[in-house]
Amino acid sequence: MQNTKQTFNLAANKLATKYVSSSQEILVSEEVSKLAALTHYPSPISSAKCKMSKEEKIAFIADKFRDIMIALDLDLNDHSLARTPERVAKMYVEEVFSGLDASQFPRVSFIEDHYQHENKANIVLVKVKFHSFCEHHFVPMFGTAHVAYIPNGKLIGLSKIPRIVRFFARRPQVQERLTAQIADSLCTLLDTPDVAVSISAQHFCVIARGIEDENSHTITNVLRGGFDTNEVLTREFFEGVNRKYVHV
Ligand SMILES: [Zn+2]
Repeated sequence: MQNTKQTFNLAANKLATKYVSSSQEILVSEEVSKLAALTHYPSPISSAKCKMSKEEKIAFIADKFRDIMIALDLDLNDHSLARTPERVAKMYVEEVFSGLDASQFPRVSFIEDHYQHENKANIVLVKVKFHSFCEHHFVPMFGTAHVAYIPNGKLIGLSKIPRIVRFFARRPQVQERLTAQIADSLCTLLDTPDVAVSISAQHFCVIARGIEDENSHTITNVLRGGFDTNEVLTREFFEGVNRKYVHV
């Protein structure tokens, strides 16, 4: 179960919620959406267009995975293993690597930001649980992404931030690129330089192999705009990251 928490440093949160509901949502243009899906840190996706349909991909991967299992001396006639190649192929294409398909980028709309108060920056911070796959070993990595931005006239629907995080997570990844892609995508979508992303994750390739360190966490931060240059904002962001959240 994914878990998402949102916090605002906006005192009049209730008032804001009321106001939001009466504001008109504006859909992000297709052009901006494409840039936000690609980012300046694109994943290494082959430029040779794969002509396979989804069904063809599943059949192709299942066939190859069957060969891997045979090479490992597994008995494919065993009842429990017989359908594993198809299960793995379907999971790759339709679920855990579905973010390789740019058309899966969430449709994002925004509303105009009317909530500036006392000329102070209004930080929006969202905490998102995610899971992804290490592209070096094809095993899971999982953790929490803290995503913050300062609105530059636009507010994004809060449910969209988890969707954006998961879009970039649903592909073979390295944590550094995942962090940068989320930050870059939000800068593009929201037309703001002020975005911060901090990810804390555990990598199964570190837990289960190599040094086998169960307690190891990797933290990556990307601080853009004011979050990078203004010490007050940097501190406020990391205070939000480290804050204990009440489970509701
Ligand atoms: Zn790895």
